[in-house]
Amino acid sequence: HNYSDSTYDVIVIGGGQSGLACGYYLRRTDLRYLIIDDQPKCGGAWQNAWDSLTLFSPSEHSSLPGWLMPKSENEFPVKNEVIQYLCQYEERYKLNIKRPIKVLNVAKKGNIYTITTNKGIIESRAIVSATGRWSKPFIPEIEGLHRFNGQQIHSAHYKTPKDFKNKKVLVVGEGNSGAQILSEVSKLARVKWATNKEPSFLPDDVDGRVLFDQATAKYYAEKKGIKWSNEKYNLGNIVMLPSVKEGRNRGVLQSAGTISYFNENGVVWKSGKEESFDVIIWCTGFKYATDFLRNVIDLDEKGQVKTKTTPSVDEKSIWFVGYGSWTGFASATLIGVGRSARSTIKEIQSYIGNL
Ligand code: FAD
Repeated sequence: HNYSDSTYDVIVIGGGQSGLACGYYLRRTDLRYLIIDDQPKCGGAWQNAWDSLTLFSPSEHSSLPGWLMPKSENEFPVKNEVIQYLCQYEERYKLNIKRPIKVLNVAKKGNIYTITTNKGIIESRAIVSATGRWSKPFIPEIEGLHRFNGQQIHSAHYKTPKDFKNKKVLVVGEGNSGAQILSEVSKLARVKWATNKEPSFLPDDVDGRVLFDQATAKYYAEKKGIKWSNEKYNLGNIVMLPSVKEGRNRGVLQSAGTISYFNENGVVWKSGKEESFDVIIWCTGFKYATDFLRNVIDLDEKGQVKTKTTPSVDEKSIWFVGYGSWTGFASATLIGVGRSARSTIKEIQSYIGNL
């Protein structure tokens, strides 16, 4: 099971969209690279997405470097179209990927990293962490939660509203996942929405395209030292996808308030009112999948490390790609990760060249 005949120049950990974007630039170099991914199949986190999940932007605005995503059947590509694109992308560029291999630990001897996986040890001079967030669901610590007797599920594991038919469901979290899941579950179940603040919705005609163009304008303005004050849209606000608009038209996109604490049967709201629930669906976001680096780098409680864009500040031959605003402008999107991947591979080339 030992894949390492000799030492690699670079190992990319993670074969989702970010790992593939790195692969695109790596194959143009003479670096000896390998991408490893712990999933049995191609597609990264999209394989775990819920059945109805669609992209925020049309296909031509959702593409990795080099090859546009083929036109989708409807305006917004569905998850299977994204998975198909990612699978065809790695075939098309004959990227060197091995699956399923899970990285468990990284250690360092001199200039070489020893990467322990569930299939043996691999050695490398540089590492790109492109592991995303999907495997690290985050649930906030709310008083009394351990006492709640009902069912709990995080959006990371949610698949279909059918599982909650006729139940009394509490959806927690005012982001996009919360709004999308609330909209569809409320068709089959009685649902309340718990939020920390009043949810904010984008105008109906603003989708991922507009957000990306706006974010790009801001990026270039700030690069030139121009302060960007006219921020029209908050990028974190809820995108009015067709399913979310439909929920709004039925009047279900209303916050029921903020949770004060949990008891055996459900919640006590900040207002003091008690309410029982069968199920809680946590739409409260994610940490970062970086645990395997704990012995070479300082991780905070969310799994973040100090970086200067993609390279780690303390461990100069480890790079982080695809984690959104933490490591690169718009890098958690298909269209945005290319720029981050390109600069990272350029830096790695120069690092290896100078060894
Ligand atoms: P991932 O896709 O998570 O890939 C990382 C891979 O690394 C996975 O296969 C994982 O299993 C593997 N891995 C993790 N740990 C290890 C390990 N220790 N060893 C080996 N392998 C490992 N993006 C868009 O561009 N447009 C959208 O419209 C959009 N909508 C979204 C809607 C929702 C509700 C969510 C949650 C996300 C959305 N995204 C969208 C973002 C997108 O899904 C993620 O940002 C993207 O999947 C990140 O890609 P990645 O390659 O960085 O990580």
